[in-house]
Amino acid sequence: MLAIGIEGTAHTVGVGIVDENCRILANVFDMVRPEIGGIHPREAANHHAEFVVPLIGKAVDIAGIDLHDLDIVAFSQGPGLGPCLRTVATAARALALSLDIPIVGVNHCVAHLEIGRGVTEATDPVLLYVSGGNTQVIAFARGRYRVFGETLDIGIGNLLDKFARECGLAFPGGPILEKLARGGSRLLPLPYSVKGMDVAFSGMLTAALALRKQGASVEDLAFSIQEVAFAMLTEVTERAMAHIGREEVLLGGGVARNRRLQEMVGRMASDRGAPMFVPPGDLCIDNGAMIAWTGLEMHRGGARMTIRETSVDQRYRTDEVAVTWR
Ligand code: AMP
Ligand code: MG
Repeated sequence: MLAIGIEGTAHTVGVGIVDENCRILANVFDMVRPEIGGIHPREAANHHAEFVVPLIGKAVDIAGIDLHDLDIVAFSQGPGLGPCLRTVATAARALALSLDIPIVGVNHCVAHLEIGRGVTEATDPVLLYVSGGNTQVIAFARGRYRVFGETLDIGIGNLLDKFARECGLAFPGGPILEKLARGGSRLLPLPYSVKGMDVAFSGMLTAALALRKQGASVEDLAFSIQEVAFAMLTEVTERAMAHIGREEVLLGGGVARNRRLQEMVGRMASDRGAPMFVPPGDLCIDNGAMIAWTGLEMHRGGARMTIRETSVDQRYRTDEVAVTWR
C-alpha cells in the first residue's frame, strides 16, 4: 500500500511517499524564504501553488513508481495558515479525484508524533514538538493525543527566527543562531517563563532585543536564548513525563534539529532512565512523508472522508483527532 502526503501548513510545501511499513520512498520539499520580513500567508500560498505539482512529479520519480500505483492521498488539513492550507487541500483533492483513490486530511501536529513512532523505536512517547509556529508537549492519553503543555504566545522557532531577523540574519534564523551560540559564553539575564506545563517566549524576545540595543553581542544573546528557552522546554517536558507516567521522550519539529536542545532533553531523559528519540532532520521539519504515513495509518484505522469533509481547519486542535489506529 502506498500513500502520498502533501504538507503545506506554513512556510514549507512538501510531498512524501511511504509504504505500509513506514518506508520512506520519497520526501521532497521547498521552503519560502522571504527576503525581508516574515512569512506572508498569501505569498506562501502562491509559492506552494507553484511548487506543489512539480514536487509531486519529483516524489513519484524518486520513489520509482507511477502515479497510478498510489492508494491514498493525504494532506495537511490544519492547523496552519489558511491560504496555504487551502492551496494544498485543492491539490490533494484534484489528485485523489483524478486517480479515483481515497483522500484523508491529517492533523499536522499528530503527524509529527506519528512519524517519530514510525521511524524510531518510540512506542508511546511524550512528544516535545518544537517548530516555527508551534510549541507543544503532546502525549497519547485516554484515546486521544492530548496537549499537556504549550506556548502561551509565540512558538520557539518564531522566537529564534524573529530575534535573528531583528539582528539582520537570514531566515530561518534557528540554525544560524545555533552556530553563533557556540561562540557565546556569557549567560545574560532573560525571563524564564514557565507556568505549570506551559511556556511563554515573547517576553524573552523583547528582553533579548533590549539587551542587543544596549550592546550585548549576538553570540552571547544566541547562547543565552538557547540556554534559557531550552531549559524551559526541558522542564515542562519532564513535568509532563512525570505527570502521566511516561518514560519515553520524542523530539519533533524543526527546532528538534538543534544539538543543544537534544543535549539538554537527552540529559533530563537519561537522569530518569528514559530513552530519547530524534527522527532524522528531514522528518523533524515540516514534511510530506509524515502526512503520508499518518494518512495511511488513519485509513488503516478506518478513517474515510468525503470531499466535503476535507475542508481545512486553521485551528485544528491536536485533541480533536479521533485516534482509531492505535
Ligand atoms: P518547522 O516549522 O517544523 O518546519 O521548523 C522550522 C523552524 O525550525 C524554524 O523556526 C527554524 O529556525 C527552526 N530550526 C531549524 N533548524 C534549527 C536548529 N538547528 N536550531 C534551532 N532551530 C532550528
Ligand atoms: Mg511542523
